[in-house]
Amino acid sequence: MSMNFVFDLALGGAEKRLCHKYWSYVSPSDYIAHLELLCYDHHTEIDALFATLAKCQVYLDDIHCEYCGRPYQLDVPADVPYARRLDFWFCDGCISFSGGQLVLGR
Ligand SMILES: [Zn+2]
Repeated sequence: MSMNFVFDLALGGAEKRLCHKYWSYVSPSDYIAHLELLCYDHHTEIDALFATLAKCQVYLDDIHCEYCGRPYQLDVPADVPYARRLDFWFCDGCISFSGGQLVLGR
C-alpha cells in the first residue's frame, strides 16, 4: 500500500508526522480510539487534530482515474479498503464531465 502526501507549506515536521500516523491506520473498527491516542501522544485536541489533517491531502498512488489518470484522493482512512475493492475508478471531475456516461466501479 502506498500513499502520497501533499502538505500545506505551513505544516511543521511534528504535524507532518501526526498526519502520517493518522493515515497509517486504515481499519475503521476502532477509529475513535485511534484519534484519542493521537491526541494524547501529540498533546493536542480533536479540533486541532482535524485542523492539521485538513492541511494534508492524501492520495493512493496505485489507484488512478481510468480516464484522466488522476490519483484517488482520500477523505478518511476507511476510504482505503473501499478504494481497494473497486475494479476501476473515475474521478468526480470525469464523471460530471461525461454527463453520467462514466460510472463508479463496483
Ligand atoms: Zn478523471
